[in-house]
Amino acid sequence: MEPKLSDYKTEVHNDWCPGCGDFGIVSAIQMALTEMKIPRHKAAIFSGIGCSGKTSHFINVFGIHTLHGRVLTFAQGAKLANPEMTIVVAGGDGDGLGIGAGHFVAAGRRNVDMTYIIFNNAVYGLTKGQASPTLQLGLKTKSLPQPNVNQSVNPIGLAIASGFTFVGRGYSYDVRQLKDLIIAAVKHKGLAFLDVLQPCPTYNDINTRDWFAGLGNIDQTTRKSQPRIYKLEDTGYDPVVHYSSEEEVNEKLTQALIKANEWDAKIPTGIFYQNELIAPYEQRIADRIPNYLENPPADQPISSGGKPITDISKILDSLEV
Ligand code: SF4
Repeated sequence: MEPKLSDYKTEVHNDWCPGCGDFGIVSAIQMALTEMKIPRHKAAIFSGIGCSGKTSHFINVFGIHTLHGRVLTFAQGAKLANPEMTIVVAGGDGDGLGIGAGHFVAAGRRNVDMTYIIFNNAVYGLTKGQASPTLQLGLKTKSLPQPNVNQSVNPIGLAIASGFTFVGRGYSYDVRQLKDLIIAAVKHKGLAFLDVLQPCPTYNDINTRDWFAGLGNIDQTTRKSQPRIYKLEDTGYDPVVHYSSEEEVNEKLTQALIKANEWDAKIPTGIFYQNELIAPYEQRIADRIPNYLENPPADQPISSGGKPITDISKILDSLEV
C-alpha cells in the first residue's frame, strides 16, 4: 500500500510557538517523503539541539535526536553503515554554523549522499534569542540588549566553499517550493544543503514574515513595497554543472557565490549550485573496500548464539594496568 501523508505524522505534543516557521519545514519534509513514497523503515531524521532539534520527534520515520553541533557526524555514520537509508538532517543555524561549523566544513569535503536542512532564524530561539552566526553585524533584535557585535556567516557561501555538491535555499512559509527543493536535494547524488529562512516570531522582530513579504522594501520607481524573496528558477538561472570542464565548474561556482551575496532588497531562493559529477563518499569507499555497497556494515552479523562475534579481548588486555 502506498504511504499517505498521515503515515509520516506523529502524535507527539508540539510546543513550538504559534506562527513559528519550523511548522512549515516539518510539513514540507513530510510532504516530500510522501511524494517520493519512501517507506518509513528506509528513512531517518537526525536532529541537533535547539528548537529545530525536535523535528525528529514529529516525523514518523526513524528519529535520532543528537548532540549540539554534532548532528552531521551521527548522520554520516549511519549513512555509511547503511547506504540504502534516506537520511535527512535537521538543525538550527546556531547548531550547524556555530558550534558545528567544523563538522559542516568536513562534511562538505566528504560529500556523503544525504540532505542537511538548516532552520535559519538568526537567533538561538531555545535559549531566549541570543544572536546566532547568521544575524548580521549591527542588527538588534528585541531579545538583544545591544546590537550584534559579530559579522554574520553566509551559509550558502560557506557550503559552496566547503564542497557541498547541492546548495539551495527555501523559505518556511512557501511550503510547496520547499517540498520540491527537499525532493531535489534527497534525489541528488551527494551531500545536499538547504538553507531555509525560518522566521522566529518570538525573538527575531527584524526578519519577520512581513519583512520577507516586502515591509520597508520600497521600489524607487513604483514607490510600492516589493517582496524580498524571489525564485532563481523564474529568472532562467541554471545551477547545474553539466560537464566536468574547469571552465564550466568555475562559472557555476562564481554565479552561485554572486547569488549567495544577494540579501535585503532581493533574496534568492531555489537551487544555487548542483554538481553530480563529483563522486559521493560512499563510492570512494567502495573503490577501496570490495563489496562495501553489496555488504555494508549494517548487513553484517555482530553476534552469534547470543555472543558478540568481535573479539576485543586483546584490546582490553592491552589497556590493563
Ligand atoms: Fe520557533 Fe522561535 Fe519559538 Fe523557537 S523560539 S519555537 S524558533 S518561534
